[in-house]
Amino acid sequence: MKISKKIQEFLINDALERFLRYVKIWTTSDIKSPSFPSTQNQIDLGKQLRNELEDLGLEKIIHDKYGYVYADLPPSEGYENVKPIGFIAHLDTSQAVSGKDVKPVLHKDYDGSDIKFSQNEEISLSIGDSPQLGEYIGLDIITSQGDTLLGADNKAGVAEIMATCAGWKKFPELTHGPITICFTPDEEIGRGTRKIKKKLLPNICYTLDGSEMGQLEIECFDAWGASIKFKGLVVHPGYAKNLMINAIHIASRFLSELPEAETPEHTEDKEGFYHLMNLEGNEEEATATLIIRDFELKKNQNRMNYLENLKNLYELRYPGLKIELNFLHQYQNMLTFIEREQKAIDLAKKAIELTGLEVKIHSIRGGTDGAKLSEKGIPTPNIFAGGMLFHSRKEYIPTLALQKASEVIINLAELWTK
Ligand SMILES: [Zn+2]
Repeated sequence: MKISKKIQEFLINDALERFLRYVKIWTTSDIKSPSFPSTQNQIDLGKQLRNELEDLGLEKIIHDKYGYVYADLPPSEGYENVKPIGFIAHLDTSQAVSGKDVKPVLHKDYDGSDIKFSQNEEISLSIGDSPQLGEYIGLDIITSQGDTLLGADNKAGVAEIMATCAGWKKFPELTHGPITICFTPDEEIGRGTRKIKKKLLPNICYTLDGSEMGQLEIECFDAWGASIKFKGLVVHPGYAKNLMINAIHIASRFLSELPEAETPEHTEDKEGFYHLMNLEGNEEEATATLIIRDFELKKNQNRMNYLENLKNLYELRYPGLKIELNFLHQYQNMLTFIEREQKAIDLAKKAIELTGLEVKIHSIRGGTDGAKLSEKGIPTPNIFAGGMLFHSRKEYIPTLALQKASEVIINLAELWTK
């Protein structure tokens, strides 16, 4: 199976046209909002996508009150019995940088020099910022004007999925089984799967929310939250000898026992960490909030044991001190669940290889919607969408990525028919 030049041309043009349109729709999510979706404008993009999916001949299209869009593409003739698969992308953009009035700029035939931004002279985008940019010399690159993010995270994924649906309609020789499309709100604030209707999704899905071309993510952190409460005793400082138990002072000593090498600022790749996020209180009571991260559950358990042992030691060292230690499992490494569907991984690798790209297996130092879906019983590897330097004014994407990711979707759908 080889995707013809004609189809490639169609995909890059169609995906690019959609991408440039979608990024202009303001869909920043808001962690402080109690509503669902967190911001109303995500509904606007969903509405537009629902209409476009209708035009493309998809069926059972749902745009629900939470902002989720679901649609089914019936299989090619004779492929009714193929296992259904789903493709997912998120509608919202990060609140790290404004996503309002994004004006995408197309830099044709990138020559390797620093890219300047018309609305922000203080920054420029160079190969030093993103080594991959060096590999993209000669390609067309899209950025914002520097006053906003671009929104390739994740509107590139949305555009690629939509362009592929358009491709399937225009070129019936591209065979596929039953396909479900799903667009989710509020991924950036960790709520992307909170109101998702599992029964509308196939048993295998793929998110198109990864970064550089060729990337495939099947692993993420095993994630824990920890809260440590120190209960002391307050006495007038002039009369405190042998009486006062200064909770906040003891808490700071306790926290200084955490290994400095195991913090976010000293770790990368597969290394885990403790991360102190907050410490507040007074002499009587102090509370520390931490997150604990690793790719291996066992290593996280060792970290929690370490905290337990420290608690016991400190309670001996300061008679009368009480320490309450609570752990919360936030999400699991999705590899545990995805490995049970090895075929989902193997075919994704093959689908990327078929586009001529090198497969880059990457471990996410964080979590994703795919991780939560995998935990809910739907193995969901994450495929590249092509955007780089996410959540930043320097965010960019080579237009070729829009085409390549669309090709990966087409290849994957066809591989699942075999
Ligand atoms: Zn994303």
